[in-house]
Parts: sequence; C-alpha cells; structure tokens
Amino acid sequence: MDIRTILVTGGTRGIGKAIVLKFAEAGFNIMSCGRNQDQLDALKVELDALGVQSYLETCDVRDKTSIRSFYTNAINRFGGVDVVVNNAGVYVPGSIQDEEDDTFDLMMETNLNSTYYMCKQSIPHLKQSSKPHLFNICSTASITPYINGGTYCISKYAQYGLTKVLREELKQDGIRVTAVLPGATLTSSWSGTELPASRFIEASSVAELIFATYQVSNQAVVEDLLVRPMEGDID
Ligand code: NAP
Repeated sequence: MDIRTILVTGGTRGIGKAIVLKFAEAGFNIMSCGRNQDQLDALKVELDALGVQSYLETCDVRDKTSIRSFYTNAINRFGGVDVVVNNAGVYVPGSIQDEEDDTFDLMMETNLNSTYYMCKQSIPHLKQSSKPHLFNICSTASITPYINGGTYCISKYAQYGLTKVLREELKQDGIRVTAVLPGATLTSSWSGTELPASRFIEASSVAELIFATYQVSNQAVVEDLLVRPMEGDID
C-alpha cells in the first residue's frame, strides 16, 4: 500500500494539531515540529495510539538552520513528502505605531520567513510525489487590514503573496498550492477571550477543509480556502 507523508509545522496545538490528527486518521506518516518537547511527547503518544508512523522534533522555525536540520532529519526518516503545511505562526496584537521592533522581527520571522525557508527545503521533494500539495496557513488578515493587527497583518499579507507566487512557479511541476485563509479559530491564540466558543471556527473544521482540498483530483486546485465564523469577523 502507498502510504503518503505530510509535514506540518507547529503541529502540537491548535490548527496544526487538528491537521496532524486529521491526516493521521487517514493513515498518513506524520512529520511535525514545535519548540516544546513536552507537547511533542504528548502528540507522539496520540499518534502512536492511532498506529501511524511519525517523526517529531523540536525546531524553532524563526531560525533557518533549525528548519534545515529538522527537515533533513524528517526526510531521512521517511524518504519523501507529499503534503507540506506551513502552519507555525504567532499573533501579537498591537499597532504599527506602538509595537516594539522585536515584535516586528518575531512575527516576520515566525510567520513569513519560516514559510519561505520551509518551501525552499521541501519543493525538490514535493516534485517527486505523485500527488504533491503545498498549503500555507495564511489568514483573513492576509486580505483585511485589521485595526490592532499591526505586523501580524503585514506578515500574513506577505505570506499570502509568497503563496501566490509559488502557485505560479509550481504550476508546471504539478504541485498544487493552496492559501488557507481562516478567520478567528478557537485555539490558544485566543486564550483569555470572553467570547463563546460558538463565535469561532473550530480548528477541526479547518483541518477537514484542508483534507477535502487534498482529495480533489490532480487536474484541479483550490487556490484560496477562505473560511470565516458564521457570524463574521470578530472585531
Ligand atoms: P497556536 O494554537 O498558538 O499554535 C501554534 C503552533 O505553532 C504550536 O504548535 C506552536 O508550538 C508552533 N510554533 C509557534 N511558534 C513557533 C516557532 N517559532 N517554532 C516552531 N513552532 C512554533 O496557533 P493557531 O491559532 O493554531 O495558529 C496556527 C496558524 O494559523 C498560524 O499561522 C496563525 O497565524 C494561523 N491563523 C490562526 C487563526 C486563529 O484565529 N487561531 C486565524 C487565522 C490564521 P510551540 O509554541 O511549542 O513552538
């Protein structure tokens, strides 16, 4: 049987973990990373219980050396990759005028640079897959300039631009490229919110949409996967 392999950055919580579990339930080999070893160990227990093979390693995606090391080790474990999901990201609210320069560096490195470097690592291997797909988890903040969005919006607009360029570059290689643009999704990014859970998208819904998008025949690609809470954006 042909077992496919998915790589998801930031698979230990939130949207990334939901994607990992969705593809694991479908029998995919899993490669994932995060900075917290305890959370990786907990994920490993869940994946072992599902009976799937996994390679999990600590990696700080702000550091391109760390990305290259994790990616090389993961590829050596499974020999190839079919689906890559650039998910690891961070949101710090604030305005461009008031935020610290370090906040700019944090979000640009985590949300944008990591996507760039992971794409460059993985594209040569995606080219060898019979059903390759690259998903970048962007945001409605990639197309909407939110007040209090500050550099988060800048980083997500740029990540979306990167995704659009790669869609064009990778057409001739048969690599499908999808920008995922979720609105407010209930994860630890929203810890402390007083809004009811029903006001948010569930992380599992984002994962289900990504899985369904992957199932579409190679002759078609969902370029943008835009999903919002039923009641619309949260201000
Ligand atoms: P989350 O619950 O905070 O989870 C983030 C994941 O990324 C964790 O596994 C975290 O693990 C990992 N991560 C963060 N920084 C990292 C780093 N420097 N190196 C390696 N791993 C790192 O976040 P989320 O809400 O699920 O968001 C996931 C993605 O969806 C992000 O790109 C975010 O911008 C996007 N998004 C979220 C929402 C939303 O409302 N939640 C809406 C639109 C788009 P460690 O902390 O252990 O490293």
